[in-house]
Amino acid sequence: MRKLLITIDGPAGAGKTTVSKALADRLEYNYIDTGALYRGVAFEARARGIALDDDAGLEGMCQSLGLRFIRDAAGVRLYSGIVDISGHIRSPEMSMMASAVSARPAVRRALLDVQRRLGAEKAAVFEGRDMGTVVFPEADLKFFLTADLSVRALRRHRELEEKQSPQKLLDVKKDMERRDQNDSSRKEAPLRPADDAIMVDSTSLSVDQIVERMLDCVKKKIAGADN
Ligand code: C5P
Repeated sequence: MRKLLITIDGPAGAGKTTVSKALADRLEYNYIDTGALYRGVAFEARARGIALDDDAGLEGMCQSLGLRFIRDAAGVRLYSGIVDISGHIRSPEMSMMASAVSARPAVRRALLDVQRRLGAEKAAVFEGRDMGTVVFPEADLKFFLTADLSVRALRRHRELEEKQSPQKLLDVKKDMERRDQNDSSRKEAPLRPADDAIMVDSTSLSVDQIVERMLDCVKKKIAGADN
């Protein structure tokens, strides 16, 4: 069967990670979380004492950055060199830092190559903000997943509670609004749906319902290409 490259973009908390993983599992495709790469850059910048607006410093750092995904029994882990940093990149602080660093052109340039190399073999679901617009404008199928802000904030609030790093709902909502604003208004690769993206509003849909809808689109795409 023809292998597709599928992109899922959208704002924070829209359910991209859960849906992308489930869709990739059902299709037996790779799942790539590109937000983790921006979080990895932010983590390394902090560890090395590089300011998030120091373009020259960030550019130099990115040239020698060995970020890679490794799949093990616990799922997909993000390594920086030989160190597993997966457990350090999901805090609210790292979310804001990732958003700040992602607006820097040098960082986006460096990660563009990394992401395109990961997509070379297709059979993958890429999750991010600019997958369908900038990184893979030729993707076979593009989705833009959204949900109401209050629903997204509640989901993230619960997720943080489960990870034992609770944050007040109001603060989650404020951070999310600020991050969406940063991500949508930046000059480089702003968060927006690609012109040919299929819009999916997850506000009142279950994960299963969304995945089934997406699978229908995949089947149609493959059938259309085979005719
Ligand atoms: O998806 P996640 O919330 O982990 O992404 C963290 C941050 O990384 C986002 O707020 C966004 O600023 C940035 N990002 C991006 N482009 C992507 C993926 C993430 O700018 N493709």
